[in-house]
Amino acid sequence: MVIFDSVKKEKVLFEPIKERQATLYVCGPTVYDDAHLGHARSAISFDLLRRVLEASGYKTTLIRNVTDIDDKIINKAKQTGKSIQDIAEFYEKRYLEDMAALLVREPDIAPKVSESMDAIEAMIQTLIDKKYAYKISNGDIYFDTSKDTNYGTVSKKISDESMSRVTHTDEKKNQKDFALWKACTEDGSCFASPLGKGRPGWHIECSAMIEEYGLKDAPYSIDIHGGGADLLFPHHENEAAQSRCATNHELAKYWMHNGFVQIDGEKMSKSLGNSFFLKDALKVYDGEILRFYLAGIHYRSDFNFNEEDLLASKKRLDKLYRLKKRALFDTQSHPNESFIKPFLEALQDDINISKALSIIDEMIAKANEQLDLNPKDKELKKVIGANLIFIQELLGFGAKESAQYFQLGVSEEDKKQIEALIQERLEAKSAKDFTKADTLRDTLAKMGISIMDSSEGTLWERAL
Ligand SMILES: [Zn+2]
Repeated sequence: MVIFDSVKKEKVLFEPIKERQATLYVCGPTVYDDAHLGHARSAISFDLLRRVLEASGYKTTLIRNVTDIDDKIINKAKQTGKSIQDIAEFYEKRYLEDMAALLVREPDIAPKVSESMDAIEAMIQTLIDKKYAYKISNGDIYFDTSKDTNYGTVSKKISDESMSRVTHTDEKKNQKDFALWKACTEDGSCFASPLGKGRPGWHIECSAMIEEYGLKDAPYSIDIHGGGADLLFPHHENEAAQSRCATNHELAKYWMHNGFVQIDGEKMSKSLGNSFFLKDALKVYDGEILRFYLAGIHYRSDFNFNEEDLLASKKRLDKLYRLKKRALFDTQSHPNESFIKPFLEALQDDINISKALSIIDEMIAKANEQLDLNPKDKELKKVIGANLIFIQELLGFGAKESAQYFQLGVSEEDKKQIEALIQERLEAKSAKDFTKADTLRDTLAKMGISIMDSSEGTLWERAL
């Protein structure tokens, strides 16, 4: 398996710290609002990575934190009159629902800040004891970046724009120093601690959690640290610095970052009204269709979300489900080696998704050709079924029944009406009233429904 290491800025061979094991940590959500498309892209990117590692024979452990104590949550609690805990629990639940809709598997470990206070305080205390941290007059505790000679080695070039994300205060020794602990006096958002009454800064939680749940007695605590490209500086640089200084070893062997998501404003406005929220996209499109679209662009590239591309991407997924209709499924059957080998190899090359998807396209085209020539060949149908199961397990696509997939987005009420019109058309046909039957077919077409007569009766689909 080859991955692109964002620190080395090149593709490198993945060599795990412990044989056949891969420990991954991905920065998770700050639960103060609904998840947006950027969250979806990051979660899908690392979900794919995890699945490909597993298909390559590694036992994976995925850790994804939940930031449930943060200024943004505190502000939301003040605005709404709710408690910090209520806000955090509500949006964490929403986040998990959205991720489930996108078929993103849950992490193995999902530590919360509120449950990791001992580990966080212990790491800050170690940094104080080792003179890497200092307290300013208001009680805030800062990390002294000048004491870490390797500071800057993760993000390399620190731009003026990224420096604007660093908080400024007169009492900091260096401009890049960052808060490990924020002193506070308000009830509800402060923890009584030997460090003083306060709450942790954002960066320290990931280092403390990685130390707690990552590998012990190893040269690195985790194999791969992942997150969005916007986290490289200052968040990941700071995580790396405080871990290095507290533990005397590097945090992660490899760093991987996914690209940004932008919205093509004008074209999006039709159905999503420029919303960046995943919940709005999920009202219009099924999670699997969104996942297929979001996963279809290489994780490192920037992503320009627009509806035209989404519909084009859906047409590609349609082909998979059309083939599924023709396949047979038998647990004894094996997929074609000539399909799965290049398919897996493409994914093992830093998740080369465009190559992997074109290999799927080729398999589908070839399978259809063979089925046209041998429509009754059961063995052929079973091998095609096994190929589809392989795709489903590796990428998460194709698990629905075909009929269900092609009827997505149709309400239960509309379904009843469609079934009634189909029944009426069948009665007209058996009464040899073909004019009426055609009129009913046109009525269904106007509703966006296409029908097909088959040996199993009349099948219908939503034509998008
Ligand atoms: Zn983090």
